[in-house]
Amino acid sequence: MGASTRIGIGYDSHRFAPGGPLILGGVSIPADVSLIGHSDADAISHAVTDAVLGAAAAGDIGSLFPDSDEANNGRDSIEMLRSAVASVHALGFVVTNIDVTVVAEYPRVGPHAPAIRARLADALGVAVPAVSVKGKTNEGMGWIGRGEGIACIAVATITSER
Ligand code: MG
Repeated sequence: MGASTRIGIGYDSHRFAPGGPLILGGVSIPADVSLIGHSDADAISHAVTDAVLGAAAAGDIGSLFPDSDEANNGRDSIEMLRSAVASVHALGFVVTNIDVTVVAEYPRVGPHAPAIRARLADALGVAVPAVSVKGKTNEGMGWIGRGEGIACIAVATITSER
């Protein structure tokens, strides 16, 4: 049998709270808001983790790291991503590429995209060109437009030689 490619999608959102910094894709971004959540609320890392797990049909971030477990309180989301990648490797897959869209009125993600791509690539075990991070606003519409929080959508492809 030849290589097979599979695709996964991940989505995450988190609410803003006053006072920075904001952790996105494992990078601390200077901002006057932060993200609230049980872990470090890193919405990029959570969406990417779910995309990778989804591609392998290996569950989701909530099943691997339940809110009910105190050990997950304030947990480093890049470490959760590394753990998800390890479980996908154990199933015989490697990550091929990742594409992420961040939807938020602020902060602007573009200036931080190179650092985020490097951090994600390291956790994913891929080269930086295999990781894409794009930012856009929601044109002022809805909860994102009102600056209540941030949403991230990620797609992952993984391949198996089996
Ligand atoms: Mg989350």
